[in-house]
This record gives sequence, structure tokens and C-alpha cells, in this order.
Amino acid sequence: MARARAFITGITGQDGAYLAQLLLEKDYDVFGLLRRSSTSEAGFYRLQWLGIGGRVQFVDGDLADYSSLARALKAIQPHEIYNLAAQSFVKSSWDQPLFTGAVTAIGVANLLEAVRLECPEARFYQASSSEMFGLVQERIQSERTPFHPRSPYAVAKVYGHWITINYRESFGLHASSGILFNHESPLRGIEFVTRKVTEGVARIKCGLARTLSLGNLDAKRDWGHAKDYVRAMWLMLQQAKPDDYVISTGRAHSVRDMCRVAFGHAGLDMDAHVVIDPALFRPAEVDILRGNSTKARAKLGWEPTIPFEDLIREMVEADLRRLGGARPRKARAA
Ligand code: NDP
Ligand code: GDP
Repeated sequence: MARARAFITGITGQDGAYLAQLLLEKDYDVFGLLRRSSTSEAGFYRLQWLGIGGRVQFVDGDLADYSSLARALKAIQPHEIYNLAAQSFVKSSWDQPLFTGAVTAIGVANLLEAVRLECPEARFYQASSSEMFGLVQERIQSERTPFHPRSPYAVAKVYGHWITINYRESFGLHASSGILFNHESPLRGIEFVTRKVTEGVARIKCGLARTLSLGNLDAKRDWGHAKDYVRAMWLMLQQAKPDDYVISTGRAHSVRDMCRVAFGHAGLDMDAHVVIDPALFRPAEVDILRGNSTKARAKLGWEPTIPFEDLIREMVEADLRRLGGARPRKARAA
């Protein structure tokens, strides 16, 4: 029997890299959409970090360019399609609202339209986001919680979510949407707060910096590990029927709590190093997100395996290694 073929957009990002690794372990042929860049080699660092740089087949294209998507799908005829590409950083979405809409919203419609016309039997995954809940309408958010997006990014994700459901209902596509809560790893982009903190801790520990500037320390997120979360994406596409699922740990921590774990793991006192910069506050904040993933646990048999504290410690250690610093001292007993 021919090997299963998967097509991943956003393969050079955090989730794309871990998902490619998972699918290669499962013996898929993995194809990834690659957008043109003048610094192309920099784009592969996550795949190289995981040791799979040479095992993925790349196709040139861009989510904003329908023709490149249609050509790619026509040639590959994938069995599974994972749409992970996006302008994914909330704060940048206020600076680039139109670009964010073109890629993170309309890009989903471009890809769904290409699926409908070129490979309608393929199974499709859309990377939806807990940011859609924004100004939360329920204390703990599930698939039934109404959305109230708080940024151009979140508004674009609401469009992506509903156009996925619409193509499922209109054309019978096997299209599922994963409403994933924040997930992190040593491969998280440096602009997101967890990685900014773990890299900042490593810089301070190595004597390369004395302070770390942050914004709102009171915001709370339900943080999980990206490795656990890409497994949920794959599980969704193995179901007989497409559906939508919240993926979360069910526990929320503040940015301040996360800083304490990260600084503490390196034997540092956050109060001596963190500086609050008002410029890092957002025009509209999402104060707290906490997910109810009961449906995914029951129907997919999914559950997170890596606790929050272990995740942050793993990130600090990876950043220390990157900067060539010593291993952190053992965290003090609480
Ligand atoms: P990253 O920011 O790490 O990766 C984004 C990827 O999208 C990169 O590969 C990037 O390519 C690619 N991309 C951006 N614009 C385009 C475009 N116009 N055409 C083609 N590719 C493009 O995101 P994550 O891996 O963290 O997240 C994956 C997806 O899941 C995203 O859609 C994100 O919004 C969503 N999500 C993430 C959550 C999280 O906590 N990580 C939570 C919920 C949803 P390049 O390398 O060239 O920039
Ligand atoms: P988001 O949930 O997708 O916006 O993920 P981020 O990691 O970018 O931000 C999580 C939370 O951390 C938000 O509420 C931010 O306001 C807060 N935060 C506080 N300081 C910072 C900072 O310096 N950078 C980022 N990215 N977020 C910060």
C-alpha cells in the first residue's frame, strides 16, 4: 500500500516542526509549504533542531496565493492537510491588521477552496485558537462558549474557524478545527512571552543582560506543551467524522507565576531583574484563558502529558544550552 501523504502549511513554525516529526515517526511522506525568503536557511532551524531537516519535501507557495496552493495540492494529492500557517503573533496584528486578515483569515478560504477543487477526499485540520474567546463569556471555555475576539488576530481566527465549519457543512469536506490553547516549547517564537522570559533568564544567567522588560504580568494563560498538542491535531484527522475540539490543560497560570518558575529554575530572583514597560501592554487584553478539553479527552483519548513547570524548565535549559551557559542550579524547595 502507498504511504500516507501529509501536507503541512506553517511547517517552519513551532507546531509545524513538531507535527512533521510526529508524522515522520508514523511513516508518512511529509510535504511542507515554504514561502520565499531572502534568508531561506534561517527558516529551517526548527526542523534542523529536531534532526528532520532533510526528511521533509518542500513546495514553494504562500497561503495568500491561491494558485500556489492549488498547484501544490494537485501535484501531491495529500491524504491529510494541516493548515498551521498564520501571522500568529497577537501584538503584531494591531500593527498589520490587513496582512493578518489576508493570511490568517482569507488564507484559510484559499486553502479550503483548493482542497475542494483539487483533493476533496483529503482530511483537513484548521489551527483555531483560544484567542477567539478573548473577553471570556464563561469562566472555563469549551466548544460551546461564544467567541468575543479582542485583536485583529483573533478576529481573523474566528473567520478561519467558521469558514472551516462552513466548508464541512456546505461541501461535505472532512474538515476539523482544533481550538488550541497556548502551547509552548523550546521551539516557540522568541516574541511570545514564555520564550521571551526563558531566553531572557538565560541571557541574565550568562551575564549577557541584567534586566528583562515585560508588559502585563497579571494576564493568565492555560499553557501546555506543543508536543502534546500536535498529537491532538493528528488524532482529530483519524476520526471517522470531522468535528471541533478544545485542546487545553485546564490549568491557568499568570505571566508572573511563569516568570517565578523560569527565574527560580536558574537560581535568580525575578524581582531583581524584571522591568515593566508600558509600551508592551496591548490595546485590548485577554485577561485569562482556561480551557475545558473534556470532549477531546473522551472522544480522541487525548490528554496532556507534560506539566507546566516541566515545560518552563525545559525551555530555560534549552535557552541556557543555546547561549552556552552552565546548567541551572536545582530549583529551591518551595
Ligand atoms: P508560528 O508563528 O511558529 O509559525 C507560523 C508559520 O506560518 C510559519 O511556518 C510561517 O512561515 C508560516 N506562515 C506565515 N505566513 C505565511 C504565509 N503567508 N504563507 C505561508 N506560510 C506562512 O506558529 P505556531 O507554530 O506557534 O502555531 C501554528 C498555528 O497554530 C498558527 O496558525 C497559530 O496561529 C495557531 N495557534 C497557535 C497557538 C500556540 O500557542 N502556539 C495557539 C492556538 C493557535 P515563516 O517561517 O516563513 O515565517
Ligand atoms: P498570546 O496569548 O497569543 O497573546 O501569547 P503571548 O505569549 O504573546 O502573550 C501572552 C500574555 O502575556 C498576554 O496577555 C500578554 O499581554 C502578556 N505579556 C506580558 N508581557 C509580555 C511581553 O513582553 N511579550 C508578550 N508577547 N506578551 C507579554
